[in-house]
Amino acid sequence: MIKSGNLGYPRIGKNREWKKALEAFWSGKLDEKSFLEQLAEIRLDGLKRQREKGIDRIPVGDFTLYDHMLDTAVMFGLVPKRFDYKGGAVPLSVYYAMARGDREATACEMTKWFNTNYHYIVPELADAAPALTENRPLSAYREAKEKLGIAGKPVMVGLYTFLKLSKGYEPEQLGAWIDRLLPLYVQVFKELEAEGVEWVQVDEPILATSLTAEDMKRVSAVYEALAQAAPRLKVMLQTYFEAVDHYEAVISLPVRGIGLDFVHGSEQNLRSLTAFGFPEDKVLGAGVIDGRNIWRADLDAKLELLAQLSAVVPYERMIVQPSCSLLHVPVTTEPENKLDPVLKAALAFADEKLDELALLVKAVKEGKAAVAEELTASREAREALQQSPLRNRPSVQETVARLDAHPSRRASSFETRRKVQQQRWQLPLLPTTTIGSFPQTPEVRQARLKWRKGEWSNEQYETFIREQIKTWIELQEELGLDVFVHGEFERTDMVEFFGEKLDGFAFTSNGWVQSYGSRCVKPPVIYGDVAFVKPMTVAETVYAQSLANKPVKGMLTGPITILNWSFVRDDMPREQVAYQIALALRSEVEALEAAGIGMIQVDEPALREGLPLKRDKWADYLDWAVRAFRLSTSTVKDETQIHTHMCYSEFHDIIDAIRALDADVISIETSRSHGELIESFENNTYDKGIGLGVYDIHSPRVPSVEEMVAMIDRALRVLDPALFWINPDCGLKTRKQEETVASLRNMVEATKIAREKYAVKC
Ligand code: GLN
Ligand code: ZN
Repeated sequence: MIKSGNLGYPRIGKNREWKKALEAFWSGKLDEKSFLEQLAEIRLDGLKRQREKGIDRIPVGDFTLYDHMLDTAVMFGLVPKRFDYKGGAVPLSVYYAMARGDREATACEMTKWFNTNYHYIVPELADAAPALTENRPLSAYREAKEKLGIAGKPVMVGLYTFLKLSKGYEPEQLGAWIDRLLPLYVQVFKELEAEGVEWVQVDEPILATSLTAEDMKRVSAVYEALAQAAPRLKVMLQTYFEAVDHYEAVISLPVRGIGLDFVHGSEQNLRSLTAFGFPEDKVLGAGVIDGRNIWRADLDAKLELLAQLSAVVPYERMIVQPSCSLLHVPVTTEPENKLDPVLKAALAFADEKLDELALLVKAVKEGKAAVAEELTASREAREALQQSPLRNRPSVQETVARLDAHPSRRASSFETRRKVQQQRWQLPLLPTTTIGSFPQTPEVRQARLKWRKGEWSNEQYETFIREQIKTWIELQEELGLDVFVHGEFERTDMVEFFGEKLDGFAFTSNGWVQSYGSRCVKPPVIYGDVAFVKPMTVAETVYAQSLANKPVKGMLTGPITILNWSFVRDDMPREQVAYQIALALRSEVEALEAAGIGMIQVDEPALREGLPLKRDKWADYLDWAVRAFRLSTSTVKDETQIHTHMCYSEFHDIIDAIRALDADVISIETSRSHGELIESFENNTYDKGIGLGVYDIHSPRVPSVEEMVAMIDRALRVLDPALFWINPDCGLKTRKQEETVASLRNMVEATKIAREKYAVKC
């Protein structure tokens, strides 16, 4: 009969015990033995929780000491040469050196896991010699069995996904790398089979991206080989985050189960399933509970969905599961007692999602009547929020309904604006500026803490912030920068700051999710219509301007970044939520302008990461993302200069969207990508104001004048000096004061040299 399954459970523990243990171990406060014991406790606790919730297929081996991709690399001995590793079991010191770097070797690169905010360690294959160092899934299986009597479902990253996400080889070497790794997977599978493991979950989310027919041939060959090697081991081939394009090829793979995402990519997966059917010898993993969001599911709709699926795949061959690992949601809503009860009741974190899975299974097995009470409770909780004034602000809904009535285009062309702005500001050639934040020293953080705890009055805190602003206005003056910022001392986080001041956002006390390694984030919850309440940044900006003899840029976080770094309500399209945020921010832009602030920067560092996994959905996303940005920034006068900032360099494929933002000035990262971005401007030059970061703020190193001059020279080979700005490549909040001042001093020096060189040419 139908069963419930899970794909992965949060690692961080109910109270982030995992993070605390890791950090204590790294700082030497915890010895290795106690550390491993603490981690085992957290791991077993998660397993017990899943058992208590009545989950039939409990994943094991999804737990990690840092990251599951790193685990996979290490399991296959893929340790780059620069780490001191001599083969055999990989010591913890090497494992963490790969993740975090050590004195001798720089860390491996880290990047986003598909379209999530989870970051994995990128395996480097180049000079590594693969060898099986430990059968991790097997160890995890044994532990759960011995300690808890749970016959778990070992989870591992599939070979194809693993290779596609690794670096250090040329595309034509892919086949050779498959040949090298396949025997190791075979070995792992054989050992699992010999152990009597029934199911293994093999994660191949890469199948939910745009793959070629060639890719699919390779995937087939891999799974053929594995099936031959371990014919009795049942493989659940797990996809998630999107629909699979090569549906027919995927369901023909020689595996015993296929897991599909019926939340993200539901329509397409459903269409494929109905059109092409589902093989009779396979089990369907029906990912119906959203593993990426924090809302209670509409269980009636989910039951209907299951019924629809059962028309193709009978319930006997169906596992009800989350759409992906629950690693992307917080552990439990239990401690969230500060939230409005209506909101709290409508939330479902990992544990509550497990309850939902169990409930769905029970409803199918015993009929809806058997769970009538729970279904009603769930329905009522959702409806209460749906109808609550907490969620609904008629004025916002009306405003967004008339979207076309709001300008999303500046009154004049860039050329016209440029002249007016030049007249107003009289900026020198190659104007210098920074990206917004200045060092958040321990002093700043302590002040905020005191104020939050009520030890400091509002007035005390405001006075403190003003002192910081004053100090830094004076420093900027002394350094000779051309456009100033107030320094963002009043902000902990660029999204939280605005979320706390806008209507429609809530903040959990314990809603942490892992971002990378031990770093966890607590995303704001957008639960209701978003509305502007009162000016959020005007006081600080105007104060800074009153002290300065140069223009001070107002500093806002853009609508798409606020959206992408929050948990977003699921009862309306993201696009609509983006417009609501955009219109709220527009009020702030207008308030700044009315208060005499003539340059306003609207940061969109998260624009790119919101790109859908499938290329054919990019245009649509970029369209509404650009529109949202423009809704916030288009009502200002010609003389008001709109800036934007993005901190990444993979820019090629979205350059048209960047242009379409129609910002007067954009600042973007380049120093870390070593000029890759500059190349992309070679045949595609940029015709508005642009600053390519001339130094890397992610390192404490003070860059020399010469290297920054070289950076400028390189950029000006392809970009127009008359439109070029000089700035660091991101905000300076993580840096120390001394290094910041020294670096900016050199930056101003470098600019002077460059000005002399390029003055004649303009
Ligand atoms: N204005 C922000 C800052 O300087 C921008 C941060 C970012 O790009 N992530 O901190
Ligand atoms: Zn940045």
